[in-house]
Amino acid sequence: MSASPRPRAAIFSIAPYVGGESKIAGVNRVIKLSSNEGAFGASPGARAALAEAAAHIHVYPDGGAVLLRQAIGRAFGLNPAQIVCGNGSDELLILLIQAYGEPGSELIMSAHGFSIYEIAAKLAGIKVRKAAERDLCADVDAMLALVSPDTRILCLANPNNPTGTLLPAGEVRRLRAGLPADVLLVLDAAYAEYVTRADYDPGAALVDEGENTVMTRTFSKIYGLGGARLGWAYAPPAIIDVLNRLRGPFNVNAAAAAAGIAALAEPGWVERLRAHNSRAKAKLAGQLRALGVRVHDGECNFLLADFGTEAQAQAADEALRARGIIVRPVKSYGLPACLRITIGTDEECDMVADGLAAFAAQNV
Ligand SMILES: *Cc1c(COP(=O)(O)O)cnc(C)c1O
Repeated sequence: MSASPRPRAAIFSIAPYVGGESKIAGVNRVIKLSSNEGAFGASPGARAALAEAAAHIHVYPDGGAVLLRQAIGRAFGLNPAQIVCGNGSDELLILLIQAYGEPGSELIMSAHGFSIYEIAAKLAGIKVRKAAERDLCADVDAMLALVSPDTRILCLANPNNPTGTLLPAGEVRRLRAGLPADVLLVLDAAYAEYVTRADYDPGAALVDEGENTVMTRTFSKIYGLGGARLGWAYAPPAIIDVLNRLRGPFNVNAAAAAAGIAALAEPGWVERLRAHNSRAKAKLAGQLRALGVRVHDGECNFLLADFGTEAQAQAADEALRARGIIVRPVKSYGLPACLRITIGTDEECDMVADGLAAFAAQNV
């Protein structure tokens, strides 16, 4: 009889995360609009820093990421001692969930919240409770209604992926005030740089007001460094201490740290991309609406296009793929009739609009 090592049963309660696709068989030039990577790639300064980092890549990185944390602190007006950097913000989200949940405890998220929370929770044996949304937007009262003595964590992507919806600062504040003090509130602000609404706050103020709120951010979206894997968390000192104990000693590699510092120093980068995003998103949303597609344009660098039925969404997806364009079906998020379309360059957006116009013309 043969025996083999067996992992914890919870491992098999989750399906592995599936990222946006990047290849189509037989297509050379693929337009990848499936993972919300910034429309213009990484900035020139960040690319130069990555190339320069190659010359020193034999040297271990600074495990404390001191220069990077100082650069983030300067850029965002935050105390570097209250920042921890990670191998993408996903790493930090997973560590927070592992650290503050325990088997049998509960994590609250909204119905179409970002999938990593659920994956990380299940891995840790934590029960996930999903709150109903209103018009695809997180609902503070519905989330608070799920709080039980077993609740340890509430994760909110604000604005959210894949819905693009946002809770204004006042609502997030009401959420925090309604949660027991010992429940950790994780505000995942991966798309903060794209938001133009005046009533939005990524969460640093709430972090400063107590011991129980964390804000996470990423270099993967507007800074175009998804491949480098770099994110950070801003948290009260006690939570920073926990993250520093849990993370790998060299979890942020030297090339990513150098690229991050350079990305923050690129003059006008965020402003330029944000402006492009708002304009291109509004234009594409208008074009799709003119075709009869229901569009949630939201606050991020993507829009959620609702084709009415799963079959129509699939057919639209196939029509785009035939033109070399990959977008993101979001059936796994419980939105089978929708496709999430990343805002790319103007040319890429026009190709999406043309592809869907041709699809609509065939479907009348
Ligand atoms: C993309 C994304 C992240 C993760 O980004 P990293 O690449 O791991 O930094 C986190 N949260 C949301 C909502 C995202 O869409």
